[in-house]
Amino acid sequence: MTVPFVDLKAQYQSIKEDIDKSIASVIEETAFVGGKYVTAFEESFAAMYGVKHCIGVANGTDSLYILMKMLGIGAGDEVITVANSWISSSETITQTGAKPVFVDMDPEYYSIDEKQLEDKITANTKAIIPVHLQGQMCEMDTILAIAEKHNIPVIEDCAQSHFSLYKGKKAGTMGIAGSFSFYPGKNLGAYGDAGAIITNDDTLAERCRLYSRHGAAIKHKHVMEGINSRLDSLQAAILSAKLPNILKWTEQRQANAKYYDSILAGITQVITPKVRPETSHTYHLYVVRVERRDGLIAFLKERGIETAIHYPTPLPFLPAYAYLGHQRHHFPVSHEYMNQILSLPMYPELTKEMMDYTAASIKEFYAR
Ligand SMILES: *Cc1c(COP(=O)(O)O)cnc(C)c1O
Repeated sequence: MTVPFVDLKAQYQSIKEDIDKSIASVIEETAFVGGKYVTAFEESFAAMYGVKHCIGVANGTDSLYILMKMLGIGAGDEVITVANSWISSSETITQTGAKPVFVDMDPEYYSIDEKQLEDKITANTKAIIPVHLQGQMCEMDTILAIAEKHNIPVIEDCAQSHFSLYKGKKAGTMGIAGSFSFYPGKNLGAYGDAGAIITNDDTLAERCRLYSRHGAAIKHKHVMEGINSRLDSLQAAILSAKLPNILKWTEQRQANAKYYDSILAGITQVITPKVRPETSHTYHLYVVRVERRDGLIAFLKERGIETAIHYPTPLPFLPAYAYLGHQRHHFPVSHEYMNQILSLPMYPELTKEMMDYTAASIKEFYAR
């Protein structure tokens, strides 16, 4: 048996007719940039989130950058994010001219450790970017209370947490804005790069829309300089075709996670993911911590099981951030976990047989 880490083809086959029809309409109408397909997706995504504005952009990295730029963040400022994330969370901070300030990950829930957040705030802190990594919600009440006390906006990085819930509230609706990626492998994925911003702030929404479209709402009327970061119409049409299925797919991910939890429970060398109370984890990734991780990866690979690491090197320890001079003891949890974390195959179409085979192979590895 082979178990791929993700299987985008299985999902395509299940909705092939809708997808093919959507793509054909965009081409027939030559509605390649902007127009009704983009607007339709923006409207349905905003409606599902119960927010006033959704601005489609080119990808989930741009959405973070655009938000920070339009909040006026730049040189001399600091923005706080988490040590264990994808580099978009921090490189966009640098792109604005600001300095990324990292907080260690929480040892239990793997997201930003909110207990260490306030210590990192200075007079220059201009935003906090909690990342709802793996589909797990950050401790938003605490983060929002600290942010409010210091009058700092919170941008939620929801690239891995489509429709995750915190005390009944959706990821991306608690801070000033939510930033989404629709990279193909994300829980809601396009067939290329795509992203979106959601917000209830009228001024911010207007500014983000302008900035992402060369600073012009009307062709040639550039009220400011901007960038070219539009949501592609083909991607918008594909996303609209997929959107009605997202909650069902999320439930399937959650059911798979529950099944993994049960079949991995007896293996003492494996720690299964813990879910923060009063939240709904949407399992973009199913991350375990294991003993002898690299040996296990090789063993599983031999048996046709693909795994991944999110992430092999925490952001502060990447060569890209060597100039900040971070030491391992500044981020002890991230440093310790970097050699333990392992992402097992996780997607809605994953079968019980595949999970059974994966669990049996893990047991076999530790029994040797
Ligand atoms: C995927 C991802 C992004 C960036 O999204 P792209 O669409 O690939 O630019 C940002 N933050 C996190 C946490 C991500 O996982």
